[in-house]
Amino acid sequence: MIKKFIRKILGVKDKKAARDMTEPVVLTAAEHGIDPKLLSSNAIRVTSSLQEAGFKAFVVGGAVRDLLLGVKPKDFDIATNATPEQVKRLFRRAFIIGKRFQIVHVMFGQDLLEVTTFRGAGETNAPKDEHGRVLRDNNFGPQHEDAMRRDFTINAMYYDPATQEVLDYHGGIADIRDKTLRIIGQPEARYREDPVRMLRVVRFAAKLQFTIEPATREPIAVMAPLINNVPAARVFDEMLKLLMSGHALACLQQLRKEGLHHGLLPLLDVVLEQPIGMKFVTLALESTDNRIKAGKGVSPGFLFASLLWHQVVEKWTAYRAAGESPIPALHLAADDVLESQTEKLALQRKIGSDMRDIWSMQPRFERRNGKAPYKLLEHVRFRAGYDFLLLRCESGEIDMDIGEWWTAFYEGDEIERERLLTSAAQGPSGGAKRKRAPRRGPRNRGGSDNAGGGDGGGSGGAGEQ
Ligand code: ATP
Ligand code: MG
Repeated sequence: MIKKFIRKILGVKDKKAARDMTEPVVLTAAEHGIDPKLLSSNAIRVTSSLQEAGFKAFVVGGAVRDLLLGVKPKDFDIATNATPEQVKRLFRRAFIIGKRFQIVHVMFGQDLLEVTTFRGAGETNAPKDEHGRVLRDNNFGPQHEDAMRRDFTINAMYYDPATQEVLDYHGGIADIRDKTLRIIGQPEARYREDPVRMLRVVRFAAKLQFTIEPATREPIAVMAPLINNVPAARVFDEMLKLLMSGHALACLQQLRKEGLHHGLLPLLDVVLEQPIGMKFVTLALESTDNRIKAGKGVSPGFLFASLLWHQVVEKWTAYRAAGESPIPALHLAADDVLESQTEKLALQRKIGSDMRDIWSMQPRFERRNGKAPYKLLEHVRFRAGYDFLLLRCESGEIDMDIGEWWTAFYEGDEIERERLLTSAAQGPSGGAKRKRAPRRGPRNRGGSDNAGGGDGGGSGGAGEQ
């Protein structure tokens, strides 16, 4: 039955390949099997309001892909033939945003839906930069042209909640079933128009565990440097999506496999090519992935602070070796790293200041006497700094004892805290300064030595000021 169904789909698709893909394959609810309960009521509200006003309106893109995979979409994009102004007029809280690519944000309470007007096939005539990247695209057109303009076959399907039909212009349903990621149109041309699509291939392949079809994959290694011409803020947005996808580790591994990290994004060069920090970064990404899968929030500041920590440590060590005292040395190292990343990645100011807070808190965890630990507990970013400390312990960078001490202090009552302060002061090593003998190979040992910068100069340790 399923085989017959797939053959039917493939058959239609093959026939269509000979034509020009202006007519979609239409699948009924019984054929595609989407569970309507996975749809958000606000998505239905938007499509039905548009339809009642006489327009076409569909759920589109990632949401249809996820619905077909039986996954509850995290957000819903809507495509319509109404212009942005026409959309705006239909909803109380609707805002036209974007210059390069105008869309309407429709808000219901906290829920935000993106409504996009069908784009026309004029991408070839759209204004471009000297590398062929499309600079602006607000050229509207019919639905089949909109489908052609989308990135991958699995992202180019339209679902009408009213009729429960799926419209498939490019064989997306067959690719979903084959777990294949296939770019629409001529791959080189599509990457040239928008090099960010190369990052998107990787993200979807890793997240969905799909195979990248050879023709889609092949040009990436050669065309990767085109990402350098994309505005930093856009690369950053896409990187953030990648890192927050719940599959960050797999995504970064795949980026490396496709040759997309090399010399492209300074962040990735740093992250993926440093054996010393690999353990730390792996743990950080695993914990991010787990938090996202459990529906918990992740702060971008924490994430980037983790990814760049070993670069900070390296520079911190160098400044100290050049005679700078530990705390100013750490600030200088943080300045250097933030500066180099901000330029290329457009790290937002807020994220940068969160990262700085997390890093500069680290030496303060070494001080486990007097009022210092109480003061640190009151730090607005204490929780992030403490989680970061635990990652450093887990990765073997610093002694586990210090993390355990802080966990007990953080969770303890007044009496327990006083007891901990006394025992830290009296302990054989003052708590923090003795590092556990490395259990790993010589490279990681290097990491441990580097991290020794965290001891507040090496000679002192926890009990010192
Ligand atoms: P996610 O689950 O991450 O939201 P998504 O496929 O919905 O995945 P979005 O960035 O929300 O990704 O984009 C919505 C849709 O817009 C995509 O499914 C695709 O059809 C289209 N799209 C997005 N970015 C591009 C692009 N760079 N080039 C062509 N089409 C794109
Ligand atoms: Mg989406």
